[in-house]
Amino acid sequence: MAASGAAVLGAPAVLAQAPARVVVVGGGFAGASCARALAGQGFAVALVEANARYVACPFSNGVIAGLREMEAQTFGYAGVEKAGVIHVPRGAVAVDPQAKRVRLDDGAELGYERLVLAPGIDLNFDAIAGYDRAAAELMPHAWKAGAQTVLLRRQLEAMEDGGLVVISAPANPFRCPPGPYERASLIAHYLKTRKPRSKLLILDAKDAFSKQRLFEAAWTALYPGLIEWVSLSFGGKVTEVDPATHTLVTEFGSHKADVANVIPPQRAGAVAQAAGVADASGWCPIDPVSFESRLQSGVHVIGDAAIGGAMPKSAFTANGQAKVCAAAVTELLAGRQPQTPKLINTCYSLVAPDYGISIAGVYRPKDGLLAEVDGAGGTSPLNAPAEVRALEAAYAEAWFGTITHQVFA
Ligand code: FAD
Repeated sequence: MAASGAAVLGAPAVLAQAPARVVVVGGGFAGASCARALAGQGFAVALVEANARYVACPFSNGVIAGLREMEAQTFGYAGVEKAGVIHVPRGAVAVDPQAKRVRLDDGAELGYERLVLAPGIDLNFDAIAGYDRAAAELMPHAWKAGAQTVLLRRQLEAMEDGGLVVISAPANPFRCPPGPYERASLIAHYLKTRKPRSKLLILDAKDAFSKQRLFEAAWTALYPGLIEWVSLSFGGKVTEVDPATHTLVTEFGSHKADVANVIPPQRAGAVAQAAGVADASGWCPIDPVSFESRLQSGVHVIGDAAIGGAMPKSAFTANGQAKVCAAAVTELLAGRQPQTPKLINTCYSLVAPDYGISIAGVYRPKDGLLAEVDGAGGTSPLNAPAEVRALEAAYAEAWFGTITHQVFA
């Protein structure tokens, strides 16, 4: 394979000399991890990521609640480059799977033998009437960390005591299943300590959610009367919003918020649609052994953009899938069959700064999908002393330190 010098104009000059064998698009928990693992195998790897700094979502709910600052969420790519990855500071706009080429936003093209797409999510701005990009400036989603995270925090800080905060949560599947409820918990902590006459309403497009019994027991203990959860069956699904008046409309009525956090439905990042690897659901079906797309050969999809069974969309999952995919790509490039993997996920949530809960699962390929291994996972105990909750909060912090160090340091 060869890419002409002209074809990689604008990309680092090193690629004009020796084209990458693997191109990875997206430098998040999935893409950066996969690029590092492949570079560690000695392959020339190009990582296409336009942003110079990555802002991590895990723990961003703590920023919203005033418990930590954005600096603690922000990472550069120097460590990734030091690990031997060629960082191409561009966006990928198109893929030609037949010609095996990726087009960048400056018109340059990169050839590849194997392509890994890890673009994360796009918010679906067609799903809720009135909720478009402009509306998100008034009713932030804060589901991609960065300016939106800060905006939601500022709105909470500006709210009068006695105000109503409304969170609208989407139906499955979406990024970070326990995330809206961790956010509700930490905002409740902020309200309890700073604006105790305020209330928080969760309008939900589903009837059950991750770690529900643990969250609800903690809310009763820590935030009695502060949080109300409205399920789908009781009118929780938001169908329309009016950003001018901060109003959220459901099939059962409307709610006027002082601060509205609208988390809309999601789909795989746009480049996945452009590459033809996303199906009608908006997500990318994959082979659970190699993470190769079911729709385009030679293209692998990992992280939040991928769908293929029971694995939740988390940073932990993204990092594990990245390593499995890198091992599979290594085998495929050597003309061998990838080995059947087992994957793990653990999601911690903070209900208060010193109160953590978790859910864990083990997954393996079964009938073409990633199926949960029965009896191998579980959640924190429903009844546990405060010391156990405090330990889990410490484990959560340690997990974040470890994974971000592994991926970006
Ligand atoms: P991302 O992290 O979104 O990375 C995608 C990258 O691709 C981005 O850097 C983007 O700039 C880049 N990109 C996209 N398109 C292109 C393109 N065309 N060209 C070049 N680059 C492109 N997970 C946990 O495990 N634990 C937690 O406690 C946790 N808490 C969370 C809390 C919140 C509030 C939220 C919203 C999420 C949380 N998550 C958590 C989930 C976690 O953030 C995601 O699952 C994870 O970020 C997915 O990684 P990814 O690499 O697939 O996508």
